[in-house]
Amino acid sequence: MSLKLTNSLTKKLETFRSLNPGEVSIYCCGVTVYDLCHLGHARSYIVWDVLRRFLISQGYKVTFIQNFTDIDDKILAKATKENSTMTQVSEKNIKEFHQDMDTLGILRPSRMPRATRCLDGIREMIQKLEEKGAAYSVDGDVYFAVMKHSEYGKLSGRDLSEQQLNADGRIDKEEGARKQHPFDFALWKAAKEGETSFSSPWGHGRPGWHIECSAMVLQELGETIDIHLGGSDLIFPHHENEIAQSEIANDKKLANYWLHNGMVNVGGQKMSKSLGNFTTIRSLLQEGISPMTLRLFILQAHYRKPLDFTKESIKAASTGWQRLNSALCLGLISHQKLKWPKPVTQQKTISDLNSYVSSERLSKASQQFKDALEDDLNTSIAISVLFDLARPLRSLANQIERGVSDLGAEKNNKELHLRWMLLVSLANILGLQPELPQGKESNQGHIYSESEIIEAIIERKAAKLSRDFAKADNIREELKDKGIELIDKKDGVTDWIRK
Ligand SMILES: [Zn+2]
Repeated sequence: MSLKLTNSLTKKLETFRSLNPGEVSIYCCGVTVYDLCHLGHARSYIVWDVLRRFLISQGYKVTFIQNFTDIDDKILAKATKENSTMTQVSEKNIKEFHQDMDTLGILRPSRMPRATRCLDGIREMIQKLEEKGAAYSVDGDVYFAVMKHSEYGKLSGRDLSEQQLNADGRIDKEEGARKQHPFDFALWKAAKEGETSFSSPWGHGRPGWHIECSAMVLQELGETIDIHLGGSDLIFPHHENEIAQSEIANDKKLANYWLHNGMVNVGGQKMSKSLGNFTTIRSLLQEGISPMTLRLFILQAHYRKPLDFTKESIKAASTGWQRLNSALCLGLISHQKLKWPKPVTQQKTISDLNSYVSSERLSKASQQFKDALEDDLNTSIAISVLFDLARPLRSLANQIERGVSDLGAEKNNKELHLRWMLLVSLANILGLQPELPQGKESNQGHIYSESEIIEAIIERKAAKLSRDFAKADNIREELKDKGIELIDKKDGVTDWIRK
């Protein structure tokens, strides 16, 4: 595999090499759980879901960690407003988060650590930074001393001689006076009167945002990881500070590849709450935009570029999706009429596409799709390959709709069936799942994606290895409820079939 990714750290397109052969460790900055997710979140998590699905399809075992920031001023403010607690606000929004992400077909992360469950790791890391002289405390607050990190600014290009301004464009005099350098940032914040707080060697308080991610990377994946992900708005100060903390505390490089996605604009303007042009995923879906339309819309742009959200662009995506979807649904709705075998019932790995690729034309399409994603995740070209594959299938779907289908020779029918299988498999790498028209149920019910099943099998294996048999059983039962049966073979391999 020769996957090339633009590394924000080196500003270069680099060939991806994982630390351990066949395995990839990924950390993705998650949400602060005080509200519903917006279109910007959808964009970020959909493009990283494609990176993950593509790596899985190429045979990698991917460990994907994404955090929840569940200690934050905004959560506290919401709890006060709603007369509830920080935990209640977080729990509610974590549930909403999963609902939105599941709807968009985003694979659940391997693990989702939370700041409140990583406090020991956070305190230990701050202590380590203190011991190394890179942290200092002032009246219960603890700051990171950026001057102690000789490479500070290597990700963002910021220079320590710049002044740091607050959100209003002014220098915060009160905090500025406490800090040794304007770029110094809080690792631990002393609790104000009546605030939710946690104990620490520096008194009651709570962790700063940046240290949460550094501690969670270490807890979940170790000192150096393969890929660190996030939106480009996180490069400074969040990711720059993560690097400074982790690399001083651990004396190791934090991540070999840093990938950042572009922002979402609305009519050329940055989407933000303060400008009032803010759109939640939930409201888009309620307006009748289908989850896969949203996915297609997002993936038509390159992940690093800004994405302009307008009524016209989403409408165009919707038309495009209807065309692609009619081809994707063909073998699910009409397989009896077409005398095609029942849709995919058994498959060992999702990378095993070769069995579908019988003709030169299909093999070329499959290669073009792979080449596109290997070229810094060029999803727009990958999508154009799907449209090319879909064309004859769409006209067949139209003919069936009009009751005039003429399949011609049996060879032609077989070729169309293979084409459909390839289309479904490749679309699945982009997470584009068939959306069945209302009232037309596939005889399989819910189409559970192959990568979702493989993820579950990996998770079940991990549970067994850590002797958590109850969890392993639960995973088996959950899959069984969805019509998927696991078969544990003697050689340790787990196979699966759809019932
Ligand atoms: Zn983070």
